[in-house]
Amino acid sequence: MRLVRFAAGAVAAIGVIRDADDRGAQVVDITDISPVPADSWPPVADVALIAAFDELRPRIVEALATRPGVALTLVRLLAPVGWPSKLLAYPANYHAHIAEMTSKNRADRNGFFLKTPSSLSGPADPIVLPDLPGRQVHHECELAIIVGRGGRHISRADALGHIFGYSCLIDVTVRGSEERVMRKSYDTFTPLGPWIVTADEIADPDHLDLALTVNGELRQKANTRSLIVDVREMIVLASSVTTLHPGDVIATGTPEGVGPLRAGDEVTITIESVGTMSVPVVQGVGGTNIAFEYESRTCGNQPTPSIGA
Ligand code: MN
Repeated sequence: MRLVRFAAGAVAAIGVIRDADDRGAQVVDITDISPVPADSWPPVADVALIAAFDELRPRIVEALATRPGVALTLVRLLAPVGWPSKLLAYPANYHAHIAEMTSKNRADRNGFFLKTPSSLSGPADPIVLPDLPGRQVHHECELAIIVGRGGRHISRADALGHIFGYSCLIDVTVRGSEERVMRKSYDTFTPLGPWIVTADEIADPDHLDLALTVNGELRQKANTRSLIVDVREMIVLASSVTTLHPGDVIATGTPEGVGPLRAGDEVTITIESVGTMSVPVVQGVGGTNIAFEYESRTCGNQPTPSIGA
């Protein structure tokens, strides 16, 4: 099953995708099946639906079979999770990427970090570059794990049972020596989508091809079998520290081939059995601060190499 969020007036509706053969894919609205109204605050109808998904599944399957749909091309898709309790990310989780960044960091030695959940954006949203003269903003092509059943101290044997599904994620990053969290947390720096494919449709998340192109040029191509910390172990590691909640998003790390984004670019991420998402890059205004300006003052505006995440 493919779960989406889409714009419906001022609120985010929840839908599932129906492949309508020759007429193209449709979105079937299942917003009413969530135990939380779509216009509630905070807006967690999607997370509540994920939390109760097992018991709600028969109603969702029935809706998919019986309700009318709207052409997918006519809706504005949003990030498939809008308000997760947290957005975790693994740095340096592919050997070849560590080599290109000349980094001493490794996910199995350094563990995870966090991005702000508010950095999430959707398949219809551009990546908005901050105005940081002299700085490079890089793309990182990553498989996203969406947590289904929460928990703490989850075992390796149980790990896959806690995963709701998978999505495509671009971990956008300002290169530099400042706190990684800040450099990766600008609004729109975590495009997620176009949907969540439920875990039952992914035979082995540790054998998925993934690729990223910029303006049609291949920049990144790898397979998740090259992950240093694999999908199960990412659940084990994270839950040894923090309680995972339904809807939590885990960015699993980027393979080699990271590179700069510029205004006017079109970035496309594709993950086998998950989907494809293309987003434009635009130049925004503002976004600098005393921390970014410190390096410019002291280093002649030369970004300091930093770990890639
Ligand atoms: Mn990353």
